Amino acid sequence: MQIYNTLTRQKEEFVPLNSGHVGMYVCGPTVYGDAHLGHARPAITFDLLFRYLKHLGYKVRYVRNITDVGHLEHDADEGEDKIQKKARLEQLEPMEVVQYFTNRYHHDMELLGVLPPSIEPHASGHIIEQIEFIKKILDAGFAYISEGSVYFDVRKYNETYHYGKLSGRNIDELYENTRELDGQSEKRCPLDFALWKKASPEHIMHWPSPWSEGFPGWHLECSTMGTKYLGEQFDIHGGGMDLMFPHHECEIAQSCAALGHDSVRYWMHNNMITINGQKMGKSYNNFITLEQFFTGNHPLLSRPFSPMTIRLFILMAHYRSTVDFSSEALEAAEKGLTRLTETYNRLRKLEPAEETTVGGLEGLRGRCEQAMSDDLNSPIVISELFDSARAINTIADGKATISAADLKELQDVWKLFVEDILGLKLENGSTNNANEQAYHGAVDMLLDLRLEAKRQKDWTTSDAIRNRLTNLGFKIKDSKDGYEWSL
Ligand code: ZN
Repeated sequence: MQIYNTLTRQKEEFVPLNSGHVGMYVCGPTVYGDAHLGHARPAITFDLLFRYLKHLGYKVRYVRNITDVGHLEHDADEGEDKIQKKARLEQLEPMEVVQYFTNRYHHDMELLGVLPPSIEPHASGHIIEQIEFIKKILDAGFAYISEGSVYFDVRKYNETYHYGKLSGRNIDELYENTRELDGQSEKRCPLDFALWKKASPEHIMHWPSPWSEGFPGWHLECSTMGTKYLGEQFDIHGGGMDLMFPHHECEIAQSCAALGHDSVRYWMHNNMITINGQKMGKSYNNFITLEQFFTGNHPLLSRPFSPMTIRLFILMAHYRSTVDFSSEALEAAEKGLTRLTETYNRLRKLEPAEETTVGGLEGLRGRCEQAMSDDLNSPIVISELFDSARAINTIADGKATISAADLKELQDVWKLFVEDILGLKLENGSTNNANEQAYHGAVDMLLDLRLEAKRQKDWTTSDAIRNRLTNLGFKIKDSKDGYEWSL
């Protein structure tokens, strides 16, 4: 499998450090608000990678953290930790805020079909490890203590290593672009970043340390928890492109400073999402939470969109390209999802014949695998599935036939790529849980009764069943040997 490594700026053959095992770390959410579209894309991108690596036979340890310790860097204007601010305003324990939004995040991820990671460590649960990590950086001479806080010495580090190698920057241009002036802060250089911050008296989330009552800097948790659970060197580190600088750059610096080498072999970054051509941001008033997508409760949305529509929409673009969200684009994805669902239902009901008389199906599995192994090219997989849908519908319409062996292969390939790898749960497609089976059985039973009524020319009953189901949102299509339905 080839993946694009942000660090080397090229596609590379993926070779794990320990054969058969993959360690992967992805920066998770900061839990002070509801998850929005910006959270959905990395979650779905790295879920796709997680699923595909498992399909390739690897044992994957997937670590995705929860950021629940404040970091001023993210909200420098307000000068207050967001979790702390929320807790103060709503008179809650900070950990109540954290738990509330973590639960909601998990719920959204489940709806989106995102598998839970193997380990989901909280920054607040790893303060001791972070303090130890800081000590290593201090011992190596790449950090200094100032007024109870500890800062990373970027200029010193850059004498031995290259600060900026991931994002392709160098320290001189970074220095020129900084607005902060020397001598106006506790830092020796404006580029230095906090490893430990002394807490101000009103700060409620703080812990004891050798330097002060305080809290760790944001970048530190990922270096610490990544190496704690995956080892001093591990395979993959992922996240959104917005995290490349400074967050991931600082992670590299911290690991090199503390351990003498980089921790990560392959850096992967998903591209960003724009909404109607605009960057997502508070100032644009276009922050749409996932819940708002699911309920349609936002002025930019024409109506609700199902989690699977969002998932398919994200997977229809390659993870390294930008994606622009609009109601129209989502409606198109919704049509695609309906078509996949209908085709999947027809595929499951196909009867085999003596021989296969339809072309285009041979080698489908290989083509889908090749696309996935080419840096997770999900849009190609989806277009392969749509191409095969044409052949499936030709067979279902009685215009061609398929042999038993070819039919089994086709059904297996669809199950593998649609359900297991792309992670799409299609309305009637998968019937592996009891509720779904009962629900489908009940609708089928009503439509069987309607079919019987039609045979008896009892139009009143047949129309009544059809109208009641239609009013509930079912789409019923009569076909030559019965009916098809979808919701
Ligand atoms: Zn991180």
